[in-house]
Amino acid sequence: MPGALAGAAGAEPARVTRLQLGLNAGLTRLVVEASAPVEAELAAQPAGLGLTLSLSGPRWAAPPAQPSAAGLVAGLGLPVQHDGRTAIAIDLVEPAVVERAFRLDPQNGPLGSSGHRLVIDLRPADPQAYAVAFAAPVALPLPTAVDIAPPPAHAADRRRTIVLDPGHGGQDPGAISASGRHEKDITLAVALAMASRLRATGRYHVILTRDRDRFVRLNDRVALARKHEADLFLSIHADSLGGDRTTSGATVYVRADAASDPEAEALALRENRADQLAGGAAAAEVDDVVSILLDLASRDTARLSSRFAGLLTVAISDGIALRRNPLRAANFRVLSAPDVPSALLELGYLSNPGDEALLFSESGRNRLAAAAVAAIDSFFGAETQAGR
Ligand code: ZN
Repeated sequence: MPGALAGAAGAEPARVTRLQLGLNAGLTRLVVEASAPVEAELAAQPAGLGLTLSLSGPRWAAPPAQPSAAGLVAGLGLPVQHDGRTAIAIDLVEPAVVERAFRLDPQNGPLGSSGHRLVIDLRPADPQAYAVAFAAPVALPLPTAVDIAPPPAHAADRRRTIVLDPGHGGQDPGAISASGRHEKDITLAVALAMASRLRATGRYHVILTRDRDRFVRLNDRVALARKHEADLFLSIHADSLGGDRTTSGATVYVRADAASDPEAEALALRENRADQLAGGAAAAEVDDVVSILLDLASRDTARLSSRFAGLLTVAISDGIALRRNPLRAANFRVLSAPDVPSALLELGYLSNPGDEALLFSESGRNRLAAAAVAAIDSFFGAETQAGR
C-alpha cells in the first residue's frame, strides 16, 4: 500500500525555508531558516574567494528564492546535494571570517512566525586571517556564541537611548584654561547643545548624566547608562596640557586595557581621578559580577564602540580640527559599561588659546553638536538597515 511505504520512509525531509542576507552593525549577516535545527560546516572554497556552507542531516529542500548580495557576500549559490550533505556556495567580495554564529529557536511574534534559524555574522579579515580561520572547516554554530541572547526585537519606531555625559562638575572643575575657565562648564554647554539637537530629530531619547553644575561619580555615570539600557554612551571632556599652548584639536577615545600611546594613558589616569575629589575615598572598581555573558557582550560592545568612534572622528573633521591620530584608546573608567557602546570625546585643549576660544563660542558648540548628531545618525542608520 503506497501510503504505508511513504510512512516507512520517515518524517518529511527537513527543509530550508529561507536564506537571508543583510548588514548588522557593520557585519554581514547570513540567516539560514529551516524546518529543523541547522548544523553546518563552513569551509573555504578550493579555488577563488568564497566559502561553502555545508548543511548536515537529511536532504535539504531548496529555499524558494535567493537573496541579493549584501555586504561582504557577492552572492549565494543554489543548494547542491553532495555526499549526503547540502552545500551552498557563498561568493565573497573580500576575505572574511566568522565573528559569531548562533542558533535561534522558532518564534511566534507580532511579525509572524519563524523557523529554526542559524545566524552567521561575517566580518572582513586580511587574507592571512582568512586562511588561518578556514585552514579546516568551521563547525557551526560556534560554541562560544550559544549563550548569546538574540538582540531584542525593537519595534521599528523605537527611539534609541543616548546617554550624554558632560565630564566633571560641582567640586571637580576638570581642566582649567590659561585664562581660568573650567572644563566642567564647556562639557556641560556642549552636552546641552548636543542634547537639544538630538531631541529635535525626534529619533532619540536623550539622557544627561548631569544637566547642571553638580558632581557625579564615574561609576554612577556608567550605572545610569546601564540602568536605562542605553544604545550609546558619549562622555564629553576637554583636555589641558599645562604649559603646552600649541597642542590643539579634538580626539576620540575608546576603552582598552592597554593605552594606544603614553599620552592617552596619562589622560585616562587624570580623568579616572575625578572620583577622588568626592571626599578622599577612591571609587570602587566596577561592581558587577563579570559573567561570561557580559564578557561575550563586551566583545560586541568594543566593536560597536570602535565603529562609533570612527564615525565621530569623521563627522567632527567636517567642521573642527582634529588632533594628529585622533582615534585613540586608554583605560577610562567611565567607558567601562560592558553592554553599552561607549566613547569619550576630548573636545580640544583648554591650554591652547585657539581651542579655548572655539569651545567657548556658540559657533564652536554648534559645530560639535552637529557633528555628534551626524555621527549618531550614521551609527544607527546602518544598524537599523541591518536589523530588519
Ligand atoms: Zn575631563
